[in-house]
Amino acid sequence: MAGYDYDLFVIGGGSGGVRAARVAASLGKRVAIAEEYRFGGTCVIRGCVPKKLYVYASQFPEHFADAAGYGWTVPEASFDWPTLVANKDKEIARLEAIYKKNVEGVGGEAFHSRAVLVDRHSVYLAAEDRTVSADQILIATGGRPAPHPALSGHEYCIFSNEAFDLKQLPKAIMIEGGGYIAVEFANIFHGLGVETTLVYRGREILSRFDMDLRRSLHETMEKKGIRILTHSISEWVRKNPQGRLDVLLSSGQALTVDQVMLAIGRIPNTENMGLEGVGVELAKTGAIVVDEFSRTSIDNIWAIGDVTHRVQLTPVAIHEAMCFIETAFKGNPTAVDHDTIPTAVFSQPEIGTVGLSEDEAVKRFPDIEVYRASFRPMRHTLSGRDEKMLMKLVVEGASRKVVGAHILGPDAGEMAQLLGIPLKAGLTKHDFDRTMAVHPTAAEELVTMYKPTYRVKNGERV
Ligand SMILES: Cc1cc2nc3c(=O)[nH]c(=O)nc-3n(C[C@H](O)[C@H](O)[C@H](O)COP(=O)(O)OP(=O)(O)OC[C@H]3O[C@@H](n4cnc5c(N)ncnc54)[C@H](O)[C@@H]3O)c2cc1C
Repeated sequence: MAGYDYDLFVIGGGSGGVRAARVAASLGKRVAIAEEYRFGGTCVIRGCVPKKLYVYASQFPEHFADAAGYGWTVPEASFDWPTLVANKDKEIARLEAIYKKNVEGVGGEAFHSRAVLVDRHSVYLAAEDRTVSADQILIATGGRPAPHPALSGHEYCIFSNEAFDLKQLPKAIMIEGGGYIAVEFANIFHGLGVETTLVYRGREILSRFDMDLRRSLHETMEKKGIRILTHSISEWVRKNPQGRLDVLLSSGQALTVDQVMLAIGRIPNTENMGLEGVGVELAKTGAIVVDEFSRTSIDNIWAIGDVTHRVQLTPVAIHEAMCFIETAFKGNPTAVDHDTIPTAVFSQPEIGTVGLSEDEAVKRFPDIEVYRASFRPMRHTLSGRDEKMLMKLVVEGASRKVVGAHILGPDAGEMAQLLGIPLKAGLTKHDFDRTMAVHPTAAEELVTMYKPTYRVKNGERV
């Protein structure tokens, strides 16, 4: 090991890479990390963090409107997009500096450079024009929005990366995609006053989430004024003489908007990194193939996070980093656990979910109980907002284990985090029933749904 410059070289300074570098360095290992763009990676620079800030920004018009029922007179509000962008930039610059400092503060070396593999122990740093060596190499280069070169006029389209930094807010936007990024941005732009159309090729937005939530969110978004066109894709995008964009959809519908945003998936950053030359196995998608310990086909080269195409979430990349550290540096081989991951969609209303959807549970178990409550949350009584909250528990009939919990409504993401604990612990509906409610909250519904709304036995609702 002494023959190498470093014990560990990490390529990619995002959620997973920075965590691995920081923890390895704090164990006294000689560590370096290279980042070609900005430390913090997707999550901090152009993902979770700026997205959530924009979600907050976009919620104010509803708060202002809701305030009237509580006796407030709110003067006509105005919104300044450049102020939001500038304040967001300040915040992410602050976080970026912290991410870098966290590595350097424990003795790690941080390079602002693209890094590529030369051989199984060597990495070329483009900005420094030199090659360094390491005993172990970790690839944490993440992913980027999938391009759509087959779309005529794709050069006029933007992706989530650009959406954060538009020079001006468009009057009308079309977003293509049905995943959480498309849905969240549709709500953000709509909340900020942009005429928003969501175009999705599938039959319902947010595949893989519980169908009840998908339908209810779809309905609520439409009620707010977001146009959702399913079973549709765009055929072409053209710039018109007014400088706006004309779009023709497969359904024959035509739209004219100021921006078209594509959110049709993400692809791993594995090109031109020397991976094939070194013999690191890639899947057809370009993702790095790893075993349960995040080890690639080359035994001293590891990969974590979005570049491996397992589950693309920040806490997952961080968990994979921690398992990698245990395995590679602590003599404690630790397989990554991807089971029962709580997650949120920061739509309006929000989705919080953990465990199996009803459809997945039905496929897996011969007998399930479904507990379902749909009600107007207390805060919407005086506001008069016509929006319902949906809560749903999916219970396996034989063991009575709660195998799925799904919420649509205010603070659903916060609730999903806490529900992740009992579901991960394998607690039963009986444990939920004997838990005291917190009153008055919306979450109390989760421990007061005593009778199943229905059961599904061998695929039949009874
Ligand atoms: C719009 C959006 C919203 C999101 N919202 C959420 C959310 O709410 N919650 C959540 O959990 N997740 C969210 N995600 C997903 C989350 O951001 C990712 O799962 C997470 O960032 C993955 O971390 P990573 O370390 O694998 O990669 P990244 O964070 O992408 O970091 C990879 C880094 O490697 C760098 N890099 C690439 N190639 C090289 C190279 N050759 N040399 C040097 N550096 C290189 C890149 O510049 C990048 O900084 C969101 C993503 C997007 C796009």
